[in-house]
Amino acid sequence: MKGLAISLIVAGAFFLGGCNSGMDDSVASSSAEIADEGDFILEYVEPQSSDHEEIYQILTADTFYEDLISSLNETFALPTDVFVNFDECGEENAYYDSSESMITVCYELVKFYADSAHETYQEDYAQEVIYAGFFTFFHELGHALVDHYQLPVVGREEDAVDAFATVLMLQAEEEDAVLAGMEQFDLDAVYESEQDELPLWDEHSLSEQRVYNVACLIYGSDPDGYADFIEEEWLPEDRADGCEAEYEQAANSWEGASHL
Ligand SMILES: [Zn+2]
Repeated sequence: MKGLAISLIVAGAFFLGGCNSGMDDSVASSSAEIADEGDFILEYVEPQSSDHEEIYQILTADTFYEDLISSLNETFALPTDVFVNFDECGEENAYYDSSESMITVCYELVKFYADSAHETYQEDYAQEVIYAGFFTFFHELGHALVDHYQLPVVGREEDAVDAFATVLMLQAEEEDAVLAGMEQFDLDAVYESEQDELPLWDEHSLSEQRVYNVACLIYGSDPDGYADFIEEEWLPEDRADGCEAEYEQAANSWEGASHL
């Protein structure tokens, strides 16, 4: 986890100024377009329910998200503040609210994903809690950037920000966290398959489709390195053929967006 700050700065440079090599250049190039008048501001809201006390303690004891937020502040020029709250919501969810410029990641969601991961992998619970909100945070960050940079999104914004989260995390070499995100969609897909009706009304793609979309981008970033994705059935062979091109396209579209 120690390498996170540096690797994220590199990732941010790719997003803001793909033509530049250094962080200073990328910040300068973005500042020319957007005055840096805002910051990401992190808050862990104290939970009322004892159900979320352990999650709250783990998150506040670790500087993981604080370090992440500082890296993002060094990297992204924001026209206004973006609040990042971990909070109780009464449901397993996460949101970006543009009227308040606020990302909310619910303790309920973090607990659900952390407990599920722990049941399956029995690894360090504190690490599982941190990874539980990671992909979701990047997904909501994607919505916040689309909003504040007024990025044109071709197709569904939900799919675009999933791609943003995946590409940014891969570029930041947060492989374990992006794999945890893929497994979270897989978990949601199992839940969906147990319901009477699939949520076709939802603005998100079905969770099973999100698994394949994320798997395709991960595989496409390094087909040799992730060759076992096909064997392990994360990805059908037919889809895998086009994944290198899908990854290139996703990476380029977000890179291109930085030049607005
Ligand atoms: Zn979303």
